[in-house]
Amino acid sequence: MNIFKKSDEKLQTVTIDELRKMITSANMPSHVQQIANKELEMLSKISPTTAEYTIGLTYIDYLVSLPWNKRTEDNLDLDRAARILNERHCGLDKIKERILEHLAVKILIMKRKPRILVVDDEEIARRNLEHILKKEGHLVITASSGVEALEKMQASVFDVVLTDIRMERINGFELLEKTKDKYPDTRVIMITGYASMDSAIESIKKGAFHYIAKPFKIDEVRSVVKQAIEKKLSTISTKGSVLCFAGPPGIGKTSLGRSIADALGRKFARISLGGMKDEAEIRGHRRTYAGAMPGRIIEEIRRAQFANPVLMLDEVDKIGQDFKGDSASALLEVLDPEQNHSFIDHYLDVTFDLSTVMFIVTANIADNIQEPLRDRMEVIEFSGYTEDEKMEIGLQHLVPKQIYEQGLSDHPPEFTIEAISKIIQEYTREAGIRNLERQIATVCRKIAREFIHRKETIHKIKVTPDLIERFLGPRRYYFEVADEKNSVGVTTGLVWTEVGGDIIFVEAAKMKGNKKLILTGSLGNVMCESAQAALSYIRSNAASFNIPEDFFEHQDIHIHVPAGAIPKDGPSAGATIAIALISLLTGRPARLDVAITGELTLSGRILPVGGIKEKMLAARRAGVKAVVLPLKNKMDLENLPGDVKKGLEVCLVERVDEIVNVVLSKNQSQVTQIKAGSKKYYPNMLQIET
Ligand code: ADP
Repeated sequence: MNIFKKSDEKLQTVTIDELRKMITSANMPSHVQQIANKELEMLSKISPTTAEYTIGLTYIDYLVSLPWNKRTEDNLDLDRAARILNERHCGLDKIKERILEHLAVKILIMKRKPRILVVDDEEIARRNLEHILKKEGHLVITASSGVEALEKMQASVFDVVLTDIRMERINGFELLEKTKDKYPDTRVIMITGYASMDSAIESIKKGAFHYIAKPFKIDEVRSVVKQAIEKKLSTISTKGSVLCFAGPPGIGKTSLGRSIADALGRKFARISLGGMKDEAEIRGHRRTYAGAMPGRIIEEIRRAQFANPVLMLDEVDKIGQDFKGDSASALLEVLDPEQNHSFIDHYLDVTFDLSTVMFIVTANIADNIQEPLRDRMEVIEFSGYTEDEKMEIGLQHLVPKQIYEQGLSDHPPEFTIEAISKIIQEYTREAGIRNLERQIATVCRKIAREFIHRKETIHKIKVTPDLIERFLGPRRYYFEVADEKNSVGVTTGLVWTEVGGDIIFVEAAKMKGNKKLILTGSLGNVMCESAQAALSYIRSNAASFNIPEDFFEHQDIHIHVPAGAIPKDGPSAGATIAIALISLLTGRPARLDVAITGELTLSGRILPVGGIKEKMLAARRAGVKAVVLPLKNKMDLENLPGDVKKGLEVCLVERVDEIVNVVLSKNQSQVTQIKAGSKKYYPNMLQIET
């Protein structure tokens, strides 16, 4: 029974005897049980009306409510795991493959025969233990002394060592110390005929897994060895393998985490690190005042009621700024298998073993995760969905899910392909499918209402594009570039943000003044530097672009990137800014339906940039016809699935002057359409079939 968070009044009615019983039946490790009993001792001496009494009572209750040794048994059926992933998630083939590989390693480790070393100088004891453990199906090796045990450990790895304490030359404690030192993953169980409280405490202090007194009960040996093996195997199977799912929102990271938990038969819990400001939110508050609380990690494990859930830590890339304390070291303590078996929450003030928790972290951009943390993770990149993929997920998963959730299962409406396509193109603009799901839910709710009003007259509703417009109102999004006019000083760029790829427009204007460069639109430092580099490059090469060399003498130049409320940064707009300036200074209009991305150097070279897939998807969403990419990104382009490139012409460039004739019209201030695909203008044009 958990009395935590009960009203103070009820809490006070729990008697010391009841608490004692709760402590005994909570299956805590012995060091925690001791602390709980000590606290209970203290409570029995003070008045129940004091604040200390309430603090102590709440603390003991919290200790007994934690699942110290309660773990779900993993389901190690890889085919079942594959089935669950495939049934619940469309596409994502490579990601599913990597997850299954990850689980396969885990399964292999868990399924191998456990190896046990029995160390005792008494032959009868040795043979007895060997017999009991062999019957359990373990591989058992024996040693008659500490020295022989160390030799055997050098020759092969053991999961568990059962050792007597009193032995000649190297006794059990020394063997324990040497084993912990050289083979920290091996669990050591102490067995002795001279049982005393002191030797039990010393064993645990020195890192023994458990302590058994002779004469032992067979069941006790079996169950302690089983626990030790489980702990050892699940620790090494999760070692060094914190999965990190990185990608824009609404792409399936959370739902995939949930499916992994279901596949393994584990509980699933989630913590958002995004808004965390204080180390105490991870590690808890010290128990010095009445409102002190444990941290979120321990609290989620308590709620899960098992010590080995799949615990998803969201937005690990957002932690850090204005965080009080060292966020990286707090998280390392949680995620690192070398440290997390003895995690200390400040409130609990005793170690809690997190080594069997399977951690999955998520991030929008993996590069933004602090270095020491990222080193410990296996990053799996998720990228945006193409329109075809969105359509498939919409029809196969989102529509049936929303029909069920909005109570329409008895009269399921039929969503046409055209209707879903209309929602995707005209009511959403996203890399993932979160808004698509929301809009489908809205349509289903409106249908539910119609059913209530006109029950008798409606039998089956067919959701067509017209109905979408009736339910969702006028379209929200247009193809941003296809419908715009080309103009002087305005270019289209591609950027990569937390929510996926996006297009930006770079605007340049000149006015009388004295050599000022004005930059607006919430540009970050790197983007401002790109603008300065672009201007300097053009000033030093003005003649080659037919620009008067003294153009900056009596002028100011203003560069603006609209959607000013959204902060923008990164080097990949360098080339886009340079072309906007050249357009402005030559008077040649720029094609808005050609989107540019590439870092510009002072000598006019175009360097490779990241997020090519996300940028290509964003270009398609915005109705862009052609994309200018750095030549050095050719490999990224070739690795993209065909449907990401479908309908887009791609021009690969090495220098900024190669972009000029692709994007700018030949004549000043006169809009001329350059024929797409013409070799004359597109020296590196890759023609991609549409
Ligand atoms: P994220 O954690 O990346 O923000 P979610 O896991 O919350 O995204 O996904 C948003 C919604 O989209 C969920 O309802 C999820 O089930 C659904 N979803 C995302 N990707 C897929 C997919 N590949 N197949 C089926 N459903 C998907």
